[in-house]
Amino acid sequence: MKTRTMLNESEQQRWTIIVITLPVGAVLAFIYAFQILTVGETLGGWASLVFGLVVFGLWGAAIFRRDWTPHVEWAFFLVMILYLCLMTIENVNLFASEHGKGEVYFSDALNAIILWLAITLIASYLALPDRETSLLLIAILSGMTMAFLYHMLFKGGFRFSVILIWVQSFFALFVLVLLITQMGRLHKKYISTDDLTQTCNRREIYRVLQRELSFSVRMGKPFSIILFDVDLFKQINDTHGHMAGDRVLRETAELVNRSIRTTDCLGRWGGEEFLLVLPQTDLTAAALLAERLCELLSERSFEGVDRVTASFGVTSFRAEQELEDLLHAADRAMYRAKQNGRNQVVTEPGG
Ligand code: GH3
Ligand code: MG
Ligand code: MG
Repeated sequence: MKTRTMLNESEQQRWTIIVITLPVGAVLAFIYAFQILTVGETLGGWASLVFGLVVFGLWGAAIFRRDWTPHVEWAFFLVMILYLCLMTIENVNLFASEHGKGEVYFSDALNAIILWLAITLIASYLALPDRETSLLLIAILSGMTMAFLYHMLFKGGFRFSVILIWVQSFFALFVLVLLITQMGRLHKKYISTDDLTQTCNRREIYRVLQRELSFSVRMGKPFSIILFDVDLFKQINDTHGHMAGDRVLRETAELVNRSIRTTDCLGRWGGEEFLLVLPQTDLTAAALLAERLCELLSERSFEGVDRVTASFGVTSFRAEQELEDLLHAADRAMYRAKQNGRNQVVTEPGG
């Protein structure tokens, strides 16, 4: 049950972003449609109008069918790419037309486009995962570069003032992208990291688990998880104090992090319980790693604290399995390790 609640939560967030950003994009597109159509240019005007209508339609779909959220995101992304292409063509035509000959009009149009791009970029950064955002950014920048070169070479010639406006606009967009990316990174780190141990938090671990699960189903590759819980941790807290307990958690996380591959992912599942996700690892390899970690931990001396041990539950993902079943299997295995006397590894095949 817990799993479902968490997944719904993240879907709920994406849904909220869509519901907020899509109507903003649609209204902007309608304003553009009105502006461009009144100038007498049809391509950009119609493109904006259709884009606005489609985005409103997607918005409605997301509101009435929440389970369509991922499809709505993708459709929005594709429609936006198409719209950007049409707008790029339209703007090259505009710059080259009689209207576009006046430099005031030219720079106004360009600044408006830059602003629009910035808004769509921010919206898409919020709505789309990393890879798609990078693709979008590449599409925007290449579209602009092509338009610039086309204008310079075939339509407007090499006018210094025009070059200056483009350089200024590129620079503004570049700085903006840097700021957004940096903000996004900080924000992502903040929402995905556990404060005490600097490992992934529960939310991030769920995301990784879900990713590995779909990868495993698609590619038919195994993946395993290790759930471990520090033994008699309450005693450590009671005897040496809460601060010492916190230090044990931090150092345990460091120790484990040093012993795993960079593709493995360690997260704090809660309290003194950690979850390790091991992509493309079968049960035997996962059990071996768990044995090594169990040994490393029991051999390690923690300052001011006596021996620290942990109990490990290991399991592997099987096709057709639900995420909840996988987590329950790891939980059952860990529970048995506790029952059998702690400081040991118990494996349970998935299913
Ligand atoms: P077992 O071997 O069965 O796991 O026994 P245990 O004592 O480790 O388990 P129990 O669930 O009884 O106690 C866990 C303790 O962990 C209780 C809680 O106060 C403590 N704890 C949870 N989170 C933190 C934390 O962030 N820092 C510290 N110092 N203690 C924590
Ligand atoms: Mg414990
Ligand atoms: Mg516990």
